[in-house]
Amino acid sequence: MAIQSINPATGAVLKTFDALDADEIDSRLALAAATFASYRRTTFAGRAALMRAAADLLDAGRGDIAVTMTAEMGKTVASAAAEAAKCAKAMRFYAEHAEAFLADEPLDDPSVVGASRAYARYQPIGPVLAVMPWNFPLWQVTRFAAPALMAGNVGLLKHASNVPQCALYLEDLFLRAGFPRGAFQTLLIGAGQVESVLRDPRVAGAAVTGSEPAGQSVAAICGDEIKKTVLELGGSDPFVVMPSADLERAATVAVTARCQNNGQSCIAAKRFIVHDAVYDEFARLFTEKMAALTVGDPMTDGVDVGPVATEQGRVDLEELLDDAVAKGASVLCGGKAPAGPGWFFPPTVVAEVTPAMRLYLEETFGPLAALYRAPDLDTALEIANATSFGLSSNAWTTDPAEQERFANELVAGAVFINGMTTSYPELPFGGVRRSGYGRELGAVGIREFCNQKTVWVG
Ligand code: NAP
Repeated sequence: MAIQSINPATGAVLKTFDALDADEIDSRLALAAATFASYRRTTFAGRAALMRAAADLLDAGRGDIAVTMTAEMGKTVASAAAEAAKCAKAMRFYAEHAEAFLADEPLDDPSVVGASRAYARYQPIGPVLAVMPWNFPLWQVTRFAAPALMAGNVGLLKHASNVPQCALYLEDLFLRAGFPRGAFQTLLIGAGQVESVLRDPRVAGAAVTGSEPAGQSVAAICGDEIKKTVLELGGSDPFVVMPSADLERAATVAVTARCQNNGQSCIAAKRFIVHDAVYDEFARLFTEKMAALTVGDPMTDGVDVGPVATEQGRVDLEELLDDAVAKGASVLCGGKAPAGPGWFFPPTVVAEVTPAMRLYLEETFGPLAALYRAPDLDTALEIANATSFGLSSNAWTTDPAEQERFANELVAGAVFINGMTTSYPELPFGGVRRSGYGRELGAVGIREFCNQKTVWVG
């Protein structure tokens, strides 16, 4: 796949880049290894000062980078600016907390292990490759890079091939902030060149955010090489609505949860499972609100939904919808891509979805929502857990006993009750089942790529 910026709102090619060749990759890896040898010995205070400088630069240039993000992948320019602000926040969060998160953890009574002192110490492991998706072109990288750099690792970024300008921006940002050359490098390479990087002995591990095939491939190679991986893969998150829910609010949040980022979020609510007693009312409210969204040029203020990021992405959505309709689903709104340039797809609601349809099991990456009717809580849970994914989940109920059941029985890396799933620097983020393993963010996220070394002193 060529490394190209293509504006999804127009189809115009903005820029084309040559992929690095083997020699260029080799010199980048040599630089990463050399930088790690000294960077790992820098202090938390020193790293934090650089990380805060990166956050300040990001904040100061937010308007410009937001336009680049929108041009490359089609999110609305307001949401791009908000994403940049969130990245700056996460950088400051790790600048402030990394030292405490990675402080030695002593045993209260070392005599039980026959020691005078015994503790766990967190140490960086080396250059880590991040294989990243285009959908949150700054945020996905930042939540890898901020903890990695604060821990004393160095980062190598293989970004999605359709967001090279964002990828280069990030390398430049960390350089301008004062990080040493080699602390964070962007490798403009295609997916086919990832294996050679992973197999290189100078690379210590890999973080993947992306689709299942990408995760499988990287994990298989890293398994072969016995290298650590963290996988953040796809999701088909349920959004369950019970009779006690505030329906107006639930329907409003459901629309945002489905359509933010033009519907292309791993943690977007994708399957709306509604109790029989409130199904008709929720379906009416939800469909009205979905149909009322403004679709258009993502650079324009007031637009809610821009184009799908790639031509193939829209084809995938159309195929899932066609399959469902052919097998008896009904389309409550949307469903037909407009003529003209750009890969637009209207907010679409589908009902009467059955297990025979691909939509039942597969991830929909765009503004396409599936409605399910559930006669009771047990059935709602059964439908919610029926996919092979397990990223996040949402449940709307004011009944404390029901809240406990959802918290306990939804099979997912997170459960959000009476709200939509959002990632926060403060909270661990990650999935179970085919959504991946390992965690990003929070205290646990920074420890993933550390050697948790046991120190025993007699
Ligand atoms: P993708 O096609 O898997 O691409 C993600 C990254 O993996 C890109 O850099 C891509 O490079 C690379 N890649 C693809 N196949 C590879 C392979 N066989 N070996 C090595 N690298 C490979 O996914 P996407 O379309 O960019 O992103 C959408 C997916 O990401 C969705 O499934 C979404 O749910 C998931 N996602 C998950 C999270 C999470 O935190 N769990 C967050 C965001 C997105 P090229 O671009 O060069 O192909």
